[in-house]
Amino acid sequence: MLTITLLGTGSPLPDPHRAGPATLVTAPSEAGDTHLLVDAGRGVLMRLAAAGVGAGHLRAVLLTHLHSDHITDLGDVITTRWITTFTPTPLTIVAPPGTQEVVDRLLASLAPDISYRLAHHEDLDHAPPVVVVEVADGPVPADLGVAVTCAPTDHRPVDPTIGFRVEHDGASVVLAGDTVPCAGLDRLCAGAGALVHTAIRADVVQATGLPRMLDILDYHSSVEQAAETATRGGVGTLVLTHYVPAFPPGGGDDWRVLAAQHFAGRIELGDDLHRVEVAAR
Ligand SMILES: [Zn+2]
Repeated sequence: MLTITLLGTGSPLPDPHRAGPATLVTAPSEAGDTHLLVDAGRGVLMRLAAAGVGAGHLRAVLLTHLHSDHITDLGDVITTRWITTFTPTPLTIVAPPGTQEVVDRLLASLAPDISYRLAHHEDLDHAPPVVVVEVADGPVPADLGVAVTCAPTDHRPVDPTIGFRVEHDGASVVLAGDTVPCAGLDRLCAGAGALVHTAIRADVVQATGLPRMLDILDYHSSVEQAAETATRGGVGTLVLTHYVPAFPPGGGDDWRVLAAQHFAGRIELGDDLHRVEVAAR
């Protein structure tokens, strides 16, 4: 079994009820759960804390792309993991090409903080250890405790972007990130237990008539398109997240109705910390 926790169901638009894009995938095990954090948007560590998981418990962070709303709190994850663990605990970041440079610059921006803490804490003798694994397509060459593969997605002009498929004991979860329907995502989805897909209400966005909003139509999947991708892949459960525009807490029935017109399987959506169990199939 795998569990999905929607840590942040928001978007770049600040929302008092929704953190930024982030999803937790957990493979339960008696020897200790394996936690993979997928994207690290606004408030991710607050939501992780609510889910009972600390930065030090993460096996890895997977990034679908380098759009700001998906990585705003990556520095918080790096710093908090560093100062709340007591032996060097490298953080593995699996992400598309270009990420090493972003992480190098992020660490450079944290240099004053790192020097303060090293000078202040007698028992802290190392800078934050971070290992970046840049990937574009195929099996991820890192020991993540579960099998993870990736494939290119299409969020152009944002490029490169990738989706992931996590597999554990016969259960599988695909994390699409931001993308329009594409062959790479279809490949990941084939026969998957669940697909976590960011989506927008294209009809509502269209009706705003605002150029800055209309721009997002051509590089995100609508609810209908996300549902069609799930149908093509024969996935068991469609999990929608990254709601634009966000529905009020407890709402979303209109999103569910729209998705159900294009996908006959189980549909999950909701508020931050919504949890979905995905069984082996
Ligand atoms: Zn994006």
